[in-house]
Amino acid sequence: MPRPNPSSSGPAASPARQALVKLGLTRDIDLALHLPLRYEDETRITPIKSARDGSTVQIEGEVTASEIQMRPRRQLVVTLDDGSGTCELRFFSFYPSHQKTLAVGTRVRARGEIKGGFWGRQMLHPAFRKAEGELPAALTPVYPTVAQLPQAYLRRAIASALTRVDLPETLPPGLEPPLARFDRQNGLQRPWSLREALFFLHHPAPDVALATLEDHSHPAWQRLKAEELLAQQLSQLTAKRARDRLRAPQLRAAGETALHEQLLAALPFQLTAAQRSVGEEIARDIAASRPMHRLLQGDVGSGKTVVAALAAAVCMDAGWQCALMAPTEILAEQHFAKLIGWLEPLLAARDKRVAWLAGGQKKKERAAMLEAVASGEAALVVGTHAVIQEQVRFHNLALAVVDEQHRFGVAQRLELRKKLAHLGLEPHMLMMSATPIPRTLAMTYYADLDVSTIDELPPGRTPIVTKLIADSRKDEVVERIGAQVAAGRQVYWVCPLIEESAALDLSNATATHVELSEALPGVSVGLLHSRMPAAEKKAVMEEFKSGRMGVLVSTTVIEVGVDVPNASLMVIEHAERFGLSQLHQLRGRVGRGAAASACVLLYSTGDSGRLGETARDRLKAMAETTDGFEIARRDLEIRGPGEFLGARQSGDALLRFADLATDTLLLAWARETAPRMLDGHPQLAARHVERWLGGKADYLKA
Ligand code: ADP
Ligand code: MG
Repeated sequence: MPRPNPSSSGPAASPARQALVKLGLTRDIDLALHLPLRYEDETRITPIKSARDGSTVQIEGEVTASEIQMRPRRQLVVTLDDGSGTCELRFFSFYPSHQKTLAVGTRVRARGEIKGGFWGRQMLHPAFRKAEGELPAALTPVYPTVAQLPQAYLRRAIASALTRVDLPETLPPGLEPPLARFDRQNGLQRPWSLREALFFLHHPAPDVALATLEDHSHPAWQRLKAEELLAQQLSQLTAKRARDRLRAPQLRAAGETALHEQLLAALPFQLTAAQRSVGEEIARDIAASRPMHRLLQGDVGSGKTVVAALAAAVCMDAGWQCALMAPTEILAEQHFAKLIGWLEPLLAARDKRVAWLAGGQKKKERAAMLEAVASGEAALVVGTHAVIQEQVRFHNLALAVVDEQHRFGVAQRLELRKKLAHLGLEPHMLMMSATPIPRTLAMTYYADLDVSTIDELPPGRTPIVTKLIADSRKDEVVERIGAQVAAGRQVYWVCPLIEESAALDLSNATATHVELSEALPGVSVGLLHSRMPAAEKKAVMEEFKSGRMGVLVSTTVIEVGVDVPNASLMVIEHAERFGLSQLHQLRGRVGRGAAASACVLLYSTGDSGRLGETARDRLKAMAETTDGFEIARRDLEIRGPGEFLGARQSGDALLRFADLATDTLLLAWARETAPRMLDGHPQLAARHVERWLGGKADYLKA
């Protein structure tokens, strides 16, 4: 009979088998890499007499009594005698099979927490089995699993995979990971092999220091983590090298009359030194025939848009198209307005125009835009996800700018990169983000990405003061709003998004709108929420931008990119429900002009009267710093890299074993080793990546 194939999920597949597939445990190597959460010690029998009260032990003895008692409730009570003493096993739920195995006269092993009460020793619901065969020599693994996949089934599947799995050494001699501290203490000359490490971690010897397994400091863990980090670095480096072999259009500015120079001259301000230097980095990149793959990071308000516009100008000057994509229509529209303001007059003189593509567009308008994009008449294309849709054909897209890149998925960036395939070329990619990537993350997940950082704000900004205020003091806050508006300033009031219910979300914002309108007579209070028609949103934004509207109540739609320098107060209601980077983004909407600005984080402790720990950490971080890098670092600390990376998760390529915060030495080793391995041992490198990432490697390449 052929061995059943775990990846077959046809109608005959059992629920357990289906669960294996769902957990991604299809290949032998996947099973071998599915490591225990913890272990149970079934290697020893403890005499009942010497078992300490409250300890978890395994005992073995003969059943001397077995009866069903009805008081205080129905239960099976079994007495076990091992010669040193007796112990009662109690079961409140049980089946006839329990009674059969636990019949008087049988020898039984039971494992559980022992309690020594007045009535003698007992165990509640212990695990038990007939005492036969030898005791296991190793600890028993307990694997992470799901309800449909019983632990025993999973154990068998993994044990059997371990007997088959092929684990040839992929690390060439001389390139082994550094010896762990533990190894050195024991005078070992070489680190563990992967094979040794895996076999050990599934079935460790009972004398192991359990703490070293728990905190993953054991050399077996070190080996595994080193392998994982290396696989990830290899795959990133492979992607980078593959990209380096691709060809992109060379974009160079055309001297004095260039669009780039004209745009610089038309700007109402001087570039900051940081803007100039990242601008030069980008200019160098796009002048080369190798496609740029650069992340431009800079805090909210640091002026990334101008830098992107200048790069776009070079691109258009060279006769190529540029696309700019933003995650929301409001943000995209802002870019559109600003870029039009700056560029349209200059483009018009060259018979070119700016095109706009977004979901809510009228058919006819959209058709006209698509036409302009296809013919090349539109030198600049701005919009939302609509820009990368199938029907959008570019004449010659050479530079793609993605704003708030973390809000786009990998798949979407891949789509953009395909838009120049008809010319056998690859466009340059500039990704922008106000959420800086902490250094360790940049080194691992974005190892193939060049990073430019704008590390200063334009001059004349005043720091934002952040206050945490309990929502019981909302009245005072409303008063303060009145004073701000009277002083000619404008105010944002942000209502939280209620995930479970968009309707509730809206009614909440609507209620706040009514409440504030009543509390602030004579002040124009507007409302903006995500389900308003685009035209209406635009009208409200216009009112606010013009300064006629004093207060803007909004759901999180204003989160990114809105730019109204006269707004000096931001109130965020239920701030405890927001993520840290989201709060930081929101706060960045104020402090854009010269006026002193403030951000009030209204929080509610709900029925418990206390804030949760992570909520408290987040709010504290907000009050303590306005530095985006520091915020990002703390965000990473609070949330862990998994969530931080968001969309990347869909690639499921996150580190499972290594921890970027603590495994810095291994990471440094992996970074150093990857290029040497790719150069000197390409086949081993390929095998290594295949083992660890299987089919997932593609996702790391976008
Ligand atoms: P972000 O980096 O958050 O996208 P923006 O590009 O929206 O920032 O810029 C924020 C504001 O600062 C805009 O109004 C922009 O015109 C203005 N700005 C950009 N660069 C400068 C500068 N060098 N000096 C003064 N204002 C600037
Ligand atoms: Mg921006």
